[in-house]
Amino acid sequence: MLSLDEIIAKLTDIVGPRRVSTNPIDKINYQHTLAYGAYRALPDVIVRIESDRQGNHKVSEILEFANEHKIPIVAKGGVGMGISSPLKGGLLLDMLGMDKILEVNSSMQYVIAEGGASVYAIHHALRQHGLMLPNFGTYGPAVVIGAMINKGGIGYGMTRYGWIADMVLGLEVILANGETIRLGALANQETTFGPFQKWIHLPDLLGLFTLAAGSMGIISKVCLRAIQCQREWLHDYCHVFRRDQLQPVQDSLIELVKGEVVYDIHFTDRWQYHWPLEEGLYDKKKIPDDGWFFLKTVLLARDQEELAFKEKRMRRIYQSAGGVEVPEIADKAMGAKAQQLGLHGWPDWHIMGPDGWCGTVVRHTGMFAVTSKMYPLRFLKEMYDLDEAAKRECGIWDAEHSPQHDSYVTRDLAIKEEYFTFYNPYDDEDVAKLRKWMGMVAQFSNERGVVWTAPTLSTKGPLPYLRLGSLYDVVKEIKQLVDPNNILNPGALF
Ligand SMILES: Cc1cc2nc3c(=O)[nH]c(=O)nc-3n(C[C@H](O)[C@H](O)[C@H](O)COP(=O)(O)OP(=O)(O)OC[C@H]3O[C@@H](n4cnc5c(N)ncnc54)[C@H](O)[C@@H]3O)c2cc1C
Repeated sequence: MLSLDEIIAKLTDIVGPRRVSTNPIDKINYQHTLAYGAYRALPDVIVRIESDRQGNHKVSEILEFANEHKIPIVAKGGVGMGISSPLKGGLLLDMLGMDKILEVNSSMQYVIAEGGASVYAIHHALRQHGLMLPNFGTYGPAVVIGAMINKGGIGYGMTRYGWIADMVLGLEVILANGETIRLGALANQETTFGPFQKWIHLPDLLGLFTLAAGSMGIISKVCLRAIQCQREWLHDYCHVFRRDQLQPVQDSLIELVKGEVVYDIHFTDRWQYHWPLEEGLYDKKKIPDDGWFFLKTVLLARDQEELAFKEKRMRRIYQSAGGVEVPEIADKAMGAKAQQLGLHGWPDWHIMGPDGWCGTVVRHTGMFAVTSKMYPLRFLKEMYDLDEAAKRECGIWDAEHSPQHDSYVTRDLAIKEEYFTFYNPYDDEDVAKLRKWMGMVAQFSNERGVVWTAPTLSTKGPLPYLRLGSLYDVVKEIKQLVDPNNILNPGALF
């Protein structure tokens, strides 16, 4: 077993002294995540990876060394939400210097980027070519693509196009022993044809490195499918329903997904608008008093003819279910105003920052906690009712806790549900209420077979994994094969 000094000496040999740190302040800075103080594990040493313009880097050498000496190693992206906490200490690999966008191919509609490239930077590069990644989230510029593939990144556009992982055509991955493999379209990269489709003449292994919490290999390159798009092709709408209309809401969402009419639907409830309304950000007179569910919808249409067709179908479905169209929300929460602050005129529907809806709510409430999970759309009513009942029982169904929903409708006829609660982290009683509610949500969600977003053993416990039966055992055996010393994010999934 090597001493820490010996480890630092070797890492310094590989990447140079400026990119290795054991400074306690650096460690605490890297600990800060969206999960705030929930995960307090610190690494023994931080290594910053930098690639040159050609994409050369030292990840292989670092992995080979860590593997030989059985040193835990966790890749770290831009923000974090707990799943890149170095639970067993060891080496934290800051991926942000592997940030090159290597190729935008307009004729084949793909982009190749390094694993540490910002998702926003990828969007930006694509937009220079009239292309876009048809899935964009609200995470701001820090989040990186290798992480989004490993944690199941989602965003606006998923009603039509699915998860970021659904856009993956190819990956380059470095295994624990330092070996590099190219999968899917990137397996063709060195040929005359170049990358062109996900499927090759071998069983697909892309999934092994997807939703893996960095525990199967380090993603060094990504090839993603892009679509043609211009900002003017995206159109915003909002339809509002009463609290007693949840069943028709559910039915209309299913019909819209099945009909492949819409680009995105976001399901929110009135709690999201309570404080913005109190602050006068929207004109109360333009929003029905009894409106409870707000379905923010985006259509992608290339010309007036396509728009007219899609608008007609969308309006028929919402309006026959009893929905009322409310341009006030479409214009102010999604449209022109949001775009002023978005990236180069593109909306980012930011939740934090100036005018982000969370900022308004936080001013009146406190810190937020969110449970993030997926289940079939046909259970929306049952799950919403269960959540409301749990919040009432825990004493958090009030404006001070802003117990809102903010969820993505997916092309899998599912919903990526986000239940929020805002709370006072300095008030033990409030924290106890929050914990009780989270426990109740975990219980009714696990009982029904929910799919958690980016779960790990430390965030969700063993239940979601044990429910998978022998599949979990098989994946463990594969992990043993590709990472026999369990150096990659140990404790996360295994
Ligand atoms: C304001 C805000 C809004 C958000 N909105 C959204 C949203 O709309 N959609 C959404 O999906 N998420 C959203 N998130 C959550 C966000 O996706 C998480 O914070 C996520 O953890 C971000 O990834 P990261 O770059 O911070 O990487 P990390 O959290 O550090 O990494 C995530 C996982 O990927 C692994 N990993 C990182 N890089 C690599 C690599 N190259 N190879 C292998 N494994 C790797 C890590 O080890 C870890 O297990 C939001 C977050 C914030 C702060």
